[in-house]
Amino acid sequence: MNKRELKELCIKTIDENRDEIIRIGNEIYKNPELGYKEFKSTEIVKKAMENLEGRLETEIAYTGCKIVANEEKQGPRVAIIGELDSVICADHKDANELGNIHACGHNVQIANMIGAAFGILKSGVFKHLDGSMEFIAIPAEECVDYEYRAQLQKENKIKYIGGKQEYLYRNGFDDTDIILQCHMIGLEEGKECIINTDTNGFMTKMVTFIGKSSHAGFAPHEGINALNMAELAMNNINAQRETFKDEDKVRVSMVISNGGDLVNVVPSKVTMEIMVRAFSIDAMIDANKKVNRALQAAALALGGKVEIKDSIGYLPMKGDRNLGDIYKENMMEYLNLTDDNFIMEYKTAGSTDLGDISQIMPCLHIWSNGITGGLHTEDYKMRDEEKAYILPAKMLALSLIDLLYDDAKQAKDVIKEFKPFFTKEEYLKFLEDYVATHEFNYID
Ligand SMILES: [Zn+2]
Ligand SMILES: [Zn+2]
Repeated sequence: MNKRELKELCIKTIDENRDEIIRIGNEIYKNPELGYKEFKSTEIVKKAMENLEGRLETEIAYTGCKIVANEEKQGPRVAIIGELDSVICADHKDANELGNIHACGHNVQIANMIGAAFGILKSGVFKHLDGSMEFIAIPAEECVDYEYRAQLQKENKIKYIGGKQEYLYRNGFDDTDIILQCHMIGLEEGKECIINTDTNGFMTKMVTFIGKSSHAGFAPHEGINALNMAELAMNNINAQRETFKDEDKVRVSMVISNGGDLVNVVPSKVTMEIMVRAFSIDAMIDANKKVNRALQAAALALGGKVEIKDSIGYLPMKGDRNLGDIYKENMMEYLNLTDDNFIMEYKTAGSTDLGDISQIMPCLHIWSNGITGGLHTEDYKMRDEEKAYILPAKMLALSLIDLLYDDAKQAKDVIKEFKPFFTKEEYLKFLEDYVATHEFNYID
């Protein structure tokens, strides 16, 4: 079969499995689970993969699963990935009792990944390709729920808070050469997708202010108010904002995760989660230093103590332009589109753990239309099931065929032209170097 015939067979197979792909996407939507808690979601994906040809693996990064095919072939390996985890947005009408909701469209990603797997594996197309392929349901893209993940780290169940970091650390990507992924976004009428994306990176911190409790009514002077320290810290951080350069896209976000217990007791312990984002690694480190100074100053002012646990969150993403071109070509051919239907470049202050991997190997990250409303908001809504669930599945599968057809020439070109910032080992060392605990104690 020539490439055209393979692509046609692939599309036909995806169309034949249309209802099943949409069903899987909707089933995951109805079972939103936060990162590293995606047990039910993994089960759903596993069931869908069980009847496909290939080697099935589960618990790939604590949760998650994948199927690998054509392992015996020599050529490069292309992975298509879908993320498993939900976010929390309790105001969303479909949120479950925990507030969990797939308002970042990861359920759609899973449907895209499974749909592509059907197109390549169920059709038998894979036998005609000169390389191997894997379809991965990967956990924990959203960097949230730190306390739960810290507990998993303590129990040695995970090492990293990001699912792709964890999967890489567990040697998951050792045989992978290229990664393809789609993410949902709402776009203006006439635009089908965003091809190339660069994102910023971020650091996370867990902050604990320690003071001294006392009766809030008759002896507040005997206490050291940890909540007041947190309030000062937030003001100190806000005073830094004018020093952040526009081009660095610095964002500092914070929440108080525990603000004290009883209102008639001066709070002796208050915890905060803080995220520091920036577009370059240097800017990230600079902003992080300023935030730590702000936290330290708050403890000093009230004679309390602050403990700051720093870790690198995700690194800036650099989407692979060659992969972007391949995806775009398929969109143009399949849908009869023109250049006007694409947004070619997108620089965003959001972050993803695909950023880390994009510093090591060529990664495609497409923002695909099909929903309305903002990501992570109560307005997020599926607009067009065909566009969201089915179209990206086809385009990812067709791109995989392009990459691995005819001695995998295109994949080899992409790999040859890619300039990695890190090897896997250098990357893991970088993460280690920036994980630190700082303590400033001003209690007499
Ligand atoms: Zn998200
Ligand atoms: Zn997302």
